[in-house]
Parts: sequence; structure tokens; C-alpha cells
Amino acid sequence: MTKSSSPERRQTDDTLCLRILQTTDLHMRLLSYDYFADRPSPHGGLARLAPLIEHARREAANCLLLDNGDFLQGTPMGDLFADPAMIDSAGIHPVIAAMNAVGYDAATLGNHEFNYGLPALDRALRDAAFAIVAGNISRPGGPTMKSWAILPLRVTDTAGHAHTLRIGLIGLAPPQITAWDRSALNGAVRTQGICDAAHAHVPAMRAQGADLVIALAHTGIGAAQDRPDLENAAVPLAAIDGIDAVLCGHQHLTFPGPRFHGLAHVDAAAATIHGKPAMMPGSWGSHLGVMDLMLRRRAGDSWRVGDHAVALRPAPDSAADDPGVQRAVSSAHTATLSHIRQRVGHTTRPLHSYFTLIADDAAVQLVAEAKRTRAAELLRDTPHAGLPLLAAAASFKTGGQNGPDFYSDVPAGPLSRRNLADLYLFPNTLQAIEVTGAQLRDWLERAAGIFRQITPGHPDQSLREPDFPAYNFDVICGLRYRIDLSQPARFAQDGTLRDQDIHRIADLTFDGRAISPDERVVVATSSYRIGSSLLAPLGALPIVLDSREPVRDVLRRHIARTDTITPSCRAVWRFAPMPPGTSAILDTGPGAASYLDQPGLPAVEPLGRTPQGFIRLRVPL
Ligand code: MN
Ligand code: MG
Repeated sequence: MTKSSSPERRQTDDTLCLRILQTTDLHMRLLSYDYFADRPSPHGGLARLAPLIEHARREAANCLLLDNGDFLQGTPMGDLFADPAMIDSAGIHPVIAAMNAVGYDAATLGNHEFNYGLPALDRALRDAAFAIVAGNISRPGGPTMKSWAILPLRVTDTAGHAHTLRIGLIGLAPPQITAWDRSALNGAVRTQGICDAAHAHVPAMRAQGADLVIALAHTGIGAAQDRPDLENAAVPLAAIDGIDAVLCGHQHLTFPGPRFHGLAHVDAAAATIHGKPAMMPGSWGSHLGVMDLMLRRRAGDSWRVGDHAVALRPAPDSAADDPGVQRAVSSAHTATLSHIRQRVGHTTRPLHSYFTLIADDAAVQLVAEAKRTRAAELLRDTPHAGLPLLAAAASFKTGGQNGPDFYSDVPAGPLSRRNLADLYLFPNTLQAIEVTGAQLRDWLERAAGIFRQITPGHPDQSLREPDFPAYNFDVICGLRYRIDLSQPARFAQDGTLRDQDIHRIADLTFDGRAISPDERVVVATSSYRIGSSLLAPLGALPIVLDSREPVRDVLRRHIARTDTITPSCRAVWRFAPMPPGTSAILDTGPGAASYLDQPGLPAVEPLGRTPQGFIRLRVPL
């Protein structure tokens, strides 16, 4: 006897494969062009990923393309189009035009989307032809932001039957956005802990009929234990019931990958966190994340994720840019080129960041001097005018995971706007804070956490703590001090005080005299620094100047005062001397080779190239 075909089919399981494609941290890398150097770039960018995206789509019956945020900022093109009037004249923001052309289904917002303030963000997002979700960001009294969305996707199962899959997407980002961009946001944005927001929203998404929930989490993979201000929260996030997969970002790293071996609840080979599929496809269009989820449904039951496969496909270093992206971006490209080529002055000496971790750095000092000079003008006739005024600055481009080309490198000669962007990468504004002598010293102790402890008398010890971002290596100009690497760091990387008696900062003086712990000074710095975790252990820091002026504009006007500058390199800091035979290893960019005889540099010894293309130097201590 034959049963009718319909009930027969209902007794078997439905299975289907859903492919999720992910990009993250594009940072305005759209075409393969380096606007800092004004030359074609061999690397990544959305235009190099677009053919990979097309290919991955053709391989799969059911496919979704998602971006994890930090797309709006990162190149001079991003800075130029932060001006809503520029977007108006172009019709559409170039990154949105490019993402529309490639056909994204949804995106979330990263922390850098907030760098230029809300009017710039709103204007850019207005033309997005894809959903935008931000689950832990709200705008009290402002327009509503979608916390999550359910995208209905017509899918085909393995038997060839059509279904509508209701895909829940929730966006999440570091809650520190409000601190990092406090000045630009001016209280108009509130954030919630990443896991707190997920706990609040995921049950509602399920109740609204989401067949599965994917977290678009602009967050990295780190601590196992949640706390409300956890910046890299992917591990506790993955543990939350109702979330089926976690797309990560923010750290600019790759997952699966060896970097994450040994972390609790993380399987860096199987690409899972708490057993759930996860991925992080690098940054700047370096990789396309490809996650295949096998979904199964028993008759009358809901879809469940079974097996999965995750692969990161690297963008080819030599390939033509995708014509669709090129078309979408071509007028913005032309506008950016003419902007970055505008002359702003002349330097008689080169400015670069190759040795910023081992010696005084003229480029850092130039930025600090520009900040100090402008802050002095703005503080004139205020109660703080009588206090000593210092300035802090750090190099933003120091290789590391961004590779051997990621250094500031401005030759002697004419200066154009692109050189300013090379010297000061971010759209932070000038601010100044009042600190005590004790806080000043702890600030330097925090910055000195970038170095590993060095055993006296031993050669070739690794200098740099790999997970400490070099942009946190603040140098405070106007002071003189030594950094004693025979001592452990006073603070752990998370800011915890290790021991009251540990000090790396020695011989700290101002104007030739020691600084007392309770005297008050003003330090010109940036809007980002004041809200950053680097200074969190210092406690309350009264802001005495909020200029709203981008540091890069401050620098441009500083140079324009004299037109020709002769950057000087004053003695600010040095390593405390160690016994003979003590040396450290520093990897720096190959461009450093031209500057090895620079005055003031320790007698470094080149040891050849690393597999990644860095120059390895032996640094006598
Ligand atoms: Mn990023
Ligand atoms: Mg980020």
C-alpha cells in the first residue's frame, strides 16, 4: 500500500545549508589604494573581497552577507566624507555606496562609526540599502535605532523545497563608545553591556519568530567572565541561550586561528566558542568569513543548527579591483586624491614612527607641541593658565598586527594633508585635563606597560608586550624620565595595580626638579585618551579644556604658522641603563633601514627580516 506523498515527506527531516558571509573592520578600505602614501596598495579592501563574495555566493544555495562594523573611519576618504555636505555633493557616502553595490543584507555599528558624531553617522546611513542593527546602543530623545531585525530569507532545502527562514540578527558593540567619543556624542548616546543587551533582546527575537539568532558582535574574543563594561565579550556572549552563532570583530584578528589557542571555552580549531560557531575575518578587507550552518527541522519542530564549517578566505594581494565597487567609489576617490594632495607646509627633516618604542620621536613631539601650543592659547585667561602645561602624544602607526607597512613615514620636503593623516590617524579632538604629580607618574607607568620585563645581563629579549596597543604608549612632553625595564609593569594590562611598591618610571623631573605627588599640572591630550582604559586607574580627571578641534587641524595650523618646520627631538625619556650584554629585540618596518644612523638612537644592530617582512633589530639596553 502506498501512502500519499505529502504525509510521507512530513515524516522526514528537513535539512538545509545556510551560508553566512562576513566582513568586519573595513575601515574605509574600499579600493586597493593607500591614501596615506598616495600610491596603489597591494592589500585587501572591499574591492578585492567583492569577487570572493560573488564566488562564495555562487557555491551556496542560501546565502547572507553581513558586516560587523567599523566601516566609516580609517582613511583620509573617511575623514573627508565625515562632512555631511561632502556626502550631499556625492549623493551617497562612498562606503555605503560600495556596500550597496556588493549587496549586503545587514550590518552593525562598530565603535568607530561614532568618531565623527551623530549628524555625520546619520547622513551616511541614510542611504544604506541594508538593515542596520545596534542592540546595546540607544539615543535617548533621539531617533530609534533598531536593536535587532528578523530577515525573512527564501531558502531551498537539500531536497529542493522552498522555505522562508526567519533569521534573527542582533548588533552589539563595545559599551566604551560613550567614553571614547564622549566629546563628539555629548551625552546623546547610551550604551549597555554587550551580554546584558543580548539577555534582554534574544528572548524577544525568539518570541517574534526568529528561527535562529546570529550575533553581529563588534567585539573580540577574550575574558570568560562577563562584566557590564567588558570590551571583548564574545566568550560570555556565546554562552547565552538562544544565540546560535557569533560573528566577531574589533580586535582586527582572525578566528579560527592560532592566536586564540588555549582560551577558556574557545576551540580555535573547530571555530567554536562555548560550542557555537564563531568567526572573525581580520580587518581592512583582509579576509572574507564564510560560515556554513547545517540546519535541521523535525516535523512540526523548529530549525536547529547542527554541523557547521567555518573558513576565512584571504583577499588576493594581486587582483583587479571589482568594477562595481570601483564605479560606486570613483568620484569619491578623485575627490580624496585632490584633497590629500593639498600642500600644508614643508619639513626640513623626516618624521616617522619606526623607533618610537626605543627612543625619543620627533613626530610624536611635533604633535605634542602642536597640542600644547594650542591648549596654551585656549587656556589663557582661565584659572588653569597658571599651572604647568604639558602635552601627551603617542604614535598610532607602529606595525604590530597591522603589518610592516603600518608606520608613519614622512620624508623631508613638502607636507600635504596626507602626511598629516599619516602622523595623526584618528579624528580625535584636542582636550586637556588636570592631573596631580602622582597621577602623572601613574599615566607614564600605564604607558610603560607596553614593555616586557627585561632580565639584566641577558641578550635578545623580546621588548614588546604583544597585546598592548602601541597607541597607548603615551609620551608626555615637557617632562624627563627613565623607564626601568628590570622592574615588572606597575599595572596589569587590564589596569589592575600589581603592587604599590613597583615602579618603572624613574628620575621623573619637570624643569629640572622632581615633581611632588600632590602638585597640579595640566596635560593637553585627546578626547579619545581621556575616556580610554589607559587612564582608568588614575581615577577622576577633570577636563579643563574641550576644544572640539580635531588634533589634525591643530597640527595643520601649527605647521602653517611658520610654513617650514624643523622638527626637533628633545630628550624626554630613555630606558634606564642595564648591565653590559643586556639587549632587547624590536621588530620594525623595513622603511627604518634609511634611518639607522639617526642621532639619539641606541646603537641598534639589524638582524635581518622576519617572515612577516619586519626588520628585526637588536637594541642594547
Ligand atoms: Mn576596528
Ligand atoms: Mg572597533
